[in-house]
Amino acid sequence: MRWDNLTDPDTGTGPGRAADAALFGADAVTTRTFDTPEFRGITFHEVRARSIVNRVPGASRMPFEWTVNPYRGCSHACVYCFARKTHSYLDLDTGLGFDSQIVVKVNAAELLRRRLAAPGWRGEHLAMGTNVDCYQRAEGRYRLMPGIIDALTEYANPFSILTKGTLILRDLDLLTRAARVTEVGISVSVGFTDPALWRTVEPGTPAPERRLDVVRTLAGQGIGCGVLMAPVIPFLSDEPARLRDTVRAIAAAGATSVTPLVLHLRPGAREWFMAWLGQHHPHLVRRYERLYAEGAYAPKWYQRRITRQVHDLAREYGIGPERAGAARNVPRPVRAPEEAGPTQLSLL
Ligand code: SF4
Repeated sequence: MRWDNLTDPDTGTGPGRAADAALFGADAVTTRTFDTPEFRGITFHEVRARSIVNRVPGASRMPFEWTVNPYRGCSHACVYCFARKTHSYLDLDTGLGFDSQIVVKVNAAELLRRRLAAPGWRGEHLAMGTNVDCYQRAEGRYRLMPGIIDALTEYANPFSILTKGTLILRDLDLLTRAARVTEVGISVSVGFTDPALWRTVEPGTPAPERRLDVVRTLAGQGIGCGVLMAPVIPFLSDEPARLRDTVRAIAAAGATSVTPLVLHLRPGAREWFMAWLGQHHPHLVRRYERLYAEGAYAPKWYQRRITRQVHDLAREYGIGPERAGAARNVPRPVRAPEEAGPTQLSLL
């Protein structure tokens, strides 16, 4: 594994492509496994990171400029995960290795607190869940987020969280407290509600219905929660009836917004996804090769069609802050890639 000369890939930069200091040194790594059903087969690499707040290059095109990511790798194991590529910066495997070799920045809260107190920090919005899920299973054991939210609350620093993890509800009290002093945006990612598709393509995640329960619970607490409808998977979740089912369920959960995002397949994710497609839906392989012939993104006409359909359905079902109740904190919008540029969005 390569732990030196490393820059944090949640900024979209790899080794040798940014001037940041090394994130952590080889002497700072402790490797652990836990023999509980939840963590069987997963190896945790505990590191004392050297930095935790990262600036996104080209942030003018992005909905956020600064990010915090306490983990790398993600046991939610979504086949299409764009962040897979970032594991290669550590000389770790981007397939099963990404799902099972999890880097834990154990000093994340301490580093964040230091940064928030630094004279040069101007209280900018911090986005979490932009690379990998900060409420993945590891968080149940390492509990990094309470310290992070505490620090943000203490400094009244605005932040947002994007997640597929129902574990976020563990920190509901902390989030409610934070929302009293600063802007808090929460988005949950639910690309589709089809259980058969979920089991094979997002095998480590809570079921879509459970994620929508998170939206429901947050709305009930007066914390507005948007849904990133990502990814919409061509030929598997994009039929009008399936889009309708998904948007209807999102509306019923009380989401304040719905933002569709069509699957993108960047290097690292593309190989893993196409292997999965060949195994589970071999008849679609040729269609995918044609649809993604130009690169990582589906053609603009296709993206626009999905966006229009979802927005029409959202209007029909009345998704919005008024309908969701007294939402005090509306999540920052997550823009579609054609607006946001190709740099970041992990399809959480
Ligand atoms: S898409 Fe999100 S939840 Fe899924 S593996 Fe990637 S980081 Fe984890």
